[in-house]
Amino acid sequence: MSKTKRFILQEEQLPRQWYNIVADMKVKPIPMLHPGTKQPIKEEDLHPIFSKEASRLELNQTDRFIDIPEEVREKYKYYRSTPLVRAYGLEKALDTPAHIYFKNESVSPVGSHKLNTAIPQAYYCKKEGITNVTTETGAGQWGTALSYACSLYGLELAVYMVKISYEQKPYRRSIMQSYGATVIASPSMSTRAGRDIITRNPNYQGSLGTAISEAIELATQTTNCKYSLGSVLNHVFLHQTVIGLEAEKQMEMAGEYPDMVIACFGGGSNFAGIAFPFMKNSLRDDSLKTRFIAAEPASCPKMSKGIFQYDFGDETGYTPLIPMYTLGHTFAPANIHAGGLRYHGAGAIVSELLRQGRMEAADIKQLEAFDAALLFAKVEGIIPAPESSHAIAATVREALKCKEEGVKKTILFNLSGHGLIDMSSYDRYLAGDLENYSLSEEELQKNFDKLEKII
Ligand SMILES: *Cc1c(COP(=O)(O)O)cnc(C)c1O
Repeated sequence: MSKTKRFILQEEQLPRQWYNIVADMKVKPIPMLHPGTKQPIKEEDLHPIFSKEASRLELNQTDRFIDIPEEVREKYKYYRSTPLVRAYGLEKALDTPAHIYFKNESVSPVGSHKLNTAIPQAYYCKKEGITNVTTETGAGQWGTALSYACSLYGLELAVYMVKISYEQKPYRRSIMQSYGATVIASPSMSTRAGRDIITRNPNYQGSLGTAISEAIELATQTTNCKYSLGSVLNHVFLHQTVIGLEAEKQMEMAGEYPDMVIACFGGGSNFAGIAFPFMKNSLRDDSLKTRFIAAEPASCPKMSKGIFQYDFGDETGYTPLIPMYTLGHTFAPANIHAGGLRYHGAGAIVSELLRQGRMEAADIKQLEAFDAALLFAKVEGIIPAPESSHAIAATVREALKCKEEGVKKTILFNLSGHGLIDMSSYDRYLAGDLENYSLSEEELQKNFDKLEKII
């Protein structure tokens, strides 16, 4: 009997709505606070930074499902549905009784899941008469996705790219420039936030937190300009649920339901995307025991070692204060770390879900991540993004546990992107230049001490 490997939806089966998990949470996340007044944020407080529609969605706690605008659905059809794939090769290599599936978001034109939110965010700006957009990017995938989305809608985009990536990943920069974006290495002298940090530390290699500060500053000082963020925020998680809503139907086609849903974790968007639609079922039916696992790097472990506290999304403190698991907004991971997922905090919704015990976190050392990535490449043919390899490593751990215990479980993980433009990280691994790195208690405490204890 031939075994089906790929499950794909017809156009008419594509989701017409995104899923808003907050509406289903009995205990909601505590409110974000205005950075100046420290009062709960109101929609108008977000307008100087974000498009009106993004601001509205950010605070929506009541509508379970939200219509995907037809214009956005049309663009989704360029690359969706993405395939759900049964990883027979990986199962065989691990000799495990587990059934392993992955959702392949790497087939988007830009190679990652980030386009799922870049398209609607650019669309809202266009519709509201915005002409210019700013953003930050770390490894480059978000900047790439938004560059393409802005070119689809004729918007001008300025991207602040973390300096170390700007230097180490020149091809990411060329890709963004090919789509028509302007790319600036961060920290830069073009903003107060950038100048301040360069004055304090001339050799600073940049962080996402600093790049966000620079992008927000430029947006608030340019007419007809908004800022756009690729993770962490509620409206971003909402857009990404298109992944899990498709996967729910595709798992049905495969005749299975996951015992575990696994995704790598930076700010939480691809995790939210694949997990929330399945969590929707768990929230309504206590008999479902699905485990939801966020895989994060041991060198940036906000979910497993961070503290729950109000913290800024950026380095300077321009964003609202977000109730999050955080390593502190001044945290920057060690340069030895090559696997991405370098952001200091987790979004408010996922932080609350972790607090409620609805999900768990696994910290993955970088050699374990790259070992898993190379095994996956050899048996499934896809070179995963270094970020995604954390999800693969967590999957391998669980599949080997199934083997040890002799139980069949169904595992679904999200392949958030491919790594074809990240070969410099693979080069470092193959040359033996990478080592494992975990943070000491002292290093963690140093950053926690700088946080104002509002909770
Ligand atoms: C940005 C990115 C991530 C991490 O961000 P999340 O918001 O946590 O999903 C993971 N994988 C890929 C391929 C990315 O581009």
